[in-house]
Amino acid sequence: MISREEFFKLLKRLADANGPTGREGSVRDIVVEELKEVADEVRIDALGNVIAVKKGRGSGRFMLAAHMDEIALIVSYIDEKGFVKFLPVGGVMERNVVGQRVRIITRSGKVVRGVIGLKPPHAAKPEEARQLPEMREMFIDIGASSRAEAEAMGVSVGDFIVFDRELVRLGEKRVTGKALDDRVGVAVMIAAFKELGETDASIYAVATVQEEVGLKGARTAAFSIDPHAAIAIDVTIAQDIPGVEEHEYVTRLGKGPAIKVIDGRKGTGLISDQRLVDKLIEVAKAKSIPFQVEVAPGGTTDASAINLTREGVPAATISIPTRYLHSAVELLDLDDAINAAKLLKEFAESIPSSWLEELRGKRIK
Ligand code: ZN
Repeated sequence: MISREEFFKLLKRLADANGPTGREGSVRDIVVEELKEVADEVRIDALGNVIAVKKGRGSGRFMLAAHMDEIALIVSYIDEKGFVKFLPVGGVMERNVVGQRVRIITRSGKVVRGVIGLKPPHAAKPEEARQLPEMREMFIDIGASSRAEAEAMGVSVGDFIVFDRELVRLGEKRVTGKALDDRVGVAVMIAAFKELGETDASIYAVATVQEEVGLKGARTAAFSIDPHAAIAIDVTIAQDIPGVEEHEYVTRLGKGPAIKVIDGRKGTGLISDQRLVDKLIEVAKAKSIPFQVEVAPGGTTDASAINLTREGVPAATISIPTRYLHSAVELLDLDDAINAAKLLKEFAESIPSSWLEELRGKRIK
């Protein structure tokens, strides 16, 4: 399996790339380059999903999905002083953008940097200093002093914006950066796909678009692949931090990938297929891969959309425990990700086509 150093390099390339929802091109280029080395076929579909296939001996089709997009902002207005107003694209919250440096990706592909500042404490009233302004009151300062200057720098309404943050290591095993949701899932999928030996089922590795705005890419990719079963690889809540009670951690860093049983509020996201969950646990135990079982109180993944494609696709999710989700300082343990790749590889190699095909249902009479 991939070493910690190699995995870090791959993850850094993916996480540092700019892939706002709906504009995933830079990430897609890396994914295609990585997957085409080992795939029998690679294609890009109409929405921009990358679909790579490694053909198996039998007729089963097993789909892996990880999303390429990251939460973003979008330029909505440039004022006469050259300040840039913006709106969120996906689950961006006020408290996570204050004080951030950002990259505006201009129409020509050039990056213009800016910062999201607030009134200085010296000028703010005491109660104001404790409060967060609403997003519509915020702006990006790109260093321009007029609208004309901002436009001359290449910035225009409709440009997408991401955090300006590079992945760095914290100690030996942990990393922090932007867009680990879900570049770590993409890295895990690439690592697993590259290590795959002979399989009975054909394995589809799908790097999806627009997950953060309604699981869009996964839906169309699953329709075209028509898989017998699918597993999404995504991050999940790790709240093993001060001030949170242990029963609310959801997952912990360093305890292995999480095999998800449920997500979304009260189960409205995905309820993982029991046979897939049981099989994943069986494989993890047999191969001595650490794992944790996940019951998530909210949020969901591509697996929910795939699950409801056509006449239904049994689905499950492997999660990488990640702290500070949807911020510029997401943080995870590299070994959890590498063990997730190991689990997916072993799982894919161990499932017969006939077992997969039966998951989709059988005639009783
Ligand atoms: Zn995600």
